Amino acid sequence: MTIHHLTRLYLAAYANLPVFLAVMFGLFAVLAYGFACFRQRRLLARWRDILGAVAPADLYKAPTVRFDIRIFWFQLLVVIPAGAFVGSLYSAERLARALIAAQGAPAIPLAGHPIADTLVQVFASVILGSFGAFLFHYAGHRTPLFWSLHKVHHSAEALSPFTAARGHPLDTLLGGSISFVWRTAVVGAALWLTGGVFTPAALTILGLLAMATLVQDALNHSHVPLSYGWFDRLWVGPLFHHVHHSADLKHRDKNFGGGVPVWDWLFGTMYLPDPAEALRLGLNDHEIGEGNPHNAVRGYMIEPMMDFWRELGRLASGGSQRPGGDAVRASTRARRARYSA
Ligand SMILES: [Zn+2]
Ligand SMILES: [Zn+2]
Repeated sequence: MTIHHLTRLYLAAYANLPVFLAVMFGLFAVLAYGFACFRQRRLLARWRDILGAVAPADLYKAPTVRFDIRIFWFQLLVVIPAGAFVGSLYSAERLARALIAAQGAPAIPLAGHPIADTLVQVFASVILGSFGAFLFHYAGHRTPLFWSLHKVHHSAEALSPFTAARGHPLDTLLGGSISFVWRTAVVGAALWLTGGVFTPAALTILGLLAMATLVQDALNHSHVPLSYGWFDRLWVGPLFHHVHHSADLKHRDKNFGGGVPVWDWLFGTMYLPDPAEALRLGLNDHEIGEGNPHNAVRGYMIEPMMDFWRELGRLASGGSQRPGGDAVRASTRARRARYSA
């Protein structure tokens, strides 16, 4: 397998989007059904019980979930090119080739042993490569400028697989671009050190992981409160991400990782979920006013852009971008009047 095969495979998946989504939601349904059987310690056989496990009626009556479904197709248009993990691997290989052409082989080449090469390439793509997204997500919580866009993802008051695509398009595009550039740079450097091309084994692992993370994202944004126990430290699970969607600030500024939580572990922002702890999802009234302005297209698309523009103006005129939850809270308190007006 070469990077061209993987790219063609993903382009084919995008070209057959309904089939691709059916497979993704199908896998999610199997996992949600399995979880419900495990919890109730019986095999659910009646259609009513199965539907209740996979798509509970109450959940799909929640206003934010209904809104997520309404705008899902539009969100996909933005999310797909921005989240192109495979695209960054493709450009990394081009970067490595350019480096070899310009600099020659590195002075201390690692290339040689296929297993060592595979490990370095997978480590660079999955672990080092995820730092760009982690950093942007952290900035989304800790600076008023980026919170003005990112809060849209957090105003979901209930979670469904459709909520995985919920996010302001500018937040998605900026985050996707930073993640793309960062992963291209670190994976390009790793490839330069390991011979310039991915090993077939690395590409197979990365292709499977890319598929797995799509299902993981749908599952993490579902109603299924599944924790992997100790393994939450290695692979982000639903309850681990539900903590991040909690309205309580002691939870929300935690668990930034989307696929592997290694950076949360290293930077002390990991909050291991306790299945007994009750979580209230969404934002607080003092942050967005009473009622949720993000249940209408204007509140969801336009208001965050205006906030972002205002914060940019404040920065340009010398206003400091104070980091920390207090700054975010002060800024969101100021917006309250505008939203409830
Ligand atoms: Zn967040
Ligand atoms: Zn989320």
